[in-house]
Amino acid sequence: MRSKAEEARGFMPPDEGLGLYEAAATVPLGGCPMLEIGSYCGKSSIYLGAAARVRRTVLFALDHHRGSEENQPGWEWHEPDLVDPQSGLVDTLPGFRRTVHDAGLEPDVVAVVGDSTTVGRWWRTPLSLLFIDGGHGAEPAHRDYETWTPWVEPGGLLAIHDVFPDPDDGGRPPYEIFCRAIDSGQFTEQRVVGSLRVLRRSG
Ligand code: SAH
Ligand code: MG
Repeated sequence: MRSKAEEARGFMPPDEGLGLYEAAATVPLGGCPMLEIGSYCGKSSIYLGAAARVRRTVLFALDHHRGSEENQPGWEWHEPDLVDPQSGLVDTLPGFRRTVHDAGLEPDVVAVVGDSTTVGRWWRTPLSLLFIDGGHGAEPAHRDYETWTPWVEPGGLLAIHDVFPDPDDGGRPPYEIFCRAIDSGQFTEQRVVGSLRVLRRSG
């Protein structure tokens, strides 16, 4: 499973993926589902899906699969072969399906294809773990924080990717929402691996 995750396309270094897996593998057995915002081609979905499997729950992998701002043509993280020639738009859904299938995780990983705010407006289910790795601009990051963190169950985990306390290392918004979680007094830091932060909601 680890090698499948390491081979998969995406933006999750092996040590951080393993940290995510280890944290996720501590959620209650047979409890609430996990949800990730931002699946891209399914790399982080393998780490979380593997943990969901051992904890006998599921991972909802939420992404509109059209890429973030930085994945669009002309931006730093654009991958031209991910453009669908028919529509001319980025489409990571085929790659995501292949990754999840090849890892044998189809029973454990449920794709939710849509905009995180739209889905969040109708979501009604507490989460044992929420992983935020969607749009990294200020607006999308803060909106994901506001929309989704209320669904983290007491004692549940909030994981945030690309948290860079030093501005020279990367963009601010993921760090800002990490600070918001800490400043809310509802979350305490559990685990730090690279730019991954895992927090626990007080129970
Ligand atoms: N976790 C992935 C990387 C995610 S990249 C990995 O391990 O490789 C960020 C993803 O967030 C992109 O696939 C993009 O399509 C998605 N995204 C950005 N804004 C979104 C939104 N508003 N709703 C749903 N998905 C969004
Ligand atoms: Mg990331």
